[in-house]
Amino acid sequence: MRLLLPLCAFALSLSGYDFALTPKRVTPEVTCFFGEPEVMNTINNGNMVNTCYLDTSKGYVVIDSGSSYAYAQSAYNEMKKIKPLPIALVINTHVHDDHWLGNGFFTQMGVKVLGSDDFAHNARIDSPTRIQTHISPEAYAQTVPMLPSEMIASDTNLTIGDQEIEFHIMKQRAHSDKDMVVYVPKLKALFAGDLVFNDRVPSLRDGDINGWISALDELKSYGATTIVGGHGYRTDEKAMELTYNYLTQMRSEIRSAMDEGLSIDETINKVTMPSFKSLRMMESLHRGNVEAAYRTLEWEQK
Ligand SMILES: [Zn+2]
Repeated sequence: MRLLLPLCAFALSLSGYDFALTPKRVTPEVTCFFGEPEVMNTINNGNMVNTCYLDTSKGYVVIDSGSSYAYAQSAYNEMKKIKPLPIALVINTHVHDDHWLGNGFFTQMGVKVLGSDDFAHNARIDSPTRIQTHISPEAYAQTVPMLPSEMIASDTNLTIGDQEIEFHIMKQRAHSDKDMVVYVPKLKALFAGDLVFNDRVPSLRDGDINGWISALDELKSYGATTIVGGHGYRTDEKAMELTYNYLTQMRSEIRSAMDEGLSIDETINKVTMPSFKSLRMMESLHRGNVEAAYRTLEWEQK
């Protein structure tokens, strides 16, 4: 018994923090891990983001690597139980660190990581990272910020196994400076990153309300029947609606307030959008979203 305890501790440190992630089959070829619709904290430990695995028959394409090394490792361990395929490619949809701090787990295996060239300008790799300051040291252990090994500036197509995969970069600032989406035409499946939120309020902090609405208008033209966002559980063809309705209603109410001559503070107090009141993170994010949108829209008035 005296020997057993140190052995157990050693085994735990080797296997790392266990996220106990649950894979959800979205289509026969697409399996995703859906995070809690909330901010990262020491309870969810960064399991508050969505990541997906596309089975191309030759290997998995991973859309977003998640918030830490241990997260990425836990997800891949679950996938190997379903079907032990190698990883063909990892995609990073945008620079917010909950979506790509798992890169190190895959690059260590020699896997290529693809992202937009926005990573060269706007990815924050200073220490501590945002995730690091919010989750437990155990869950963050072994995490090293690794940028995409290949950065693209414009739309690209790749064929991997039996899937043709399209990478589309949004033409203007939307949720972030440069959002990339992944579209698989054969499956009519769209991986929209943080252009699509469900079950919680979207974050407009780094975004542009006009660019975001335009991006969603463009994505609607794809005719996707499966849509997975960066946060939230909904994945059907209507999965863009919550984000679209939230942003378009906000824009129209802010423009009306501006027409009445209201100041930014008066507008923030007026545009409370009670029909979204029950949505998670409304308290913490909504006023900041109105402020960010106002600062974009006031240029139209000048
Ligand atoms: Zn984001």
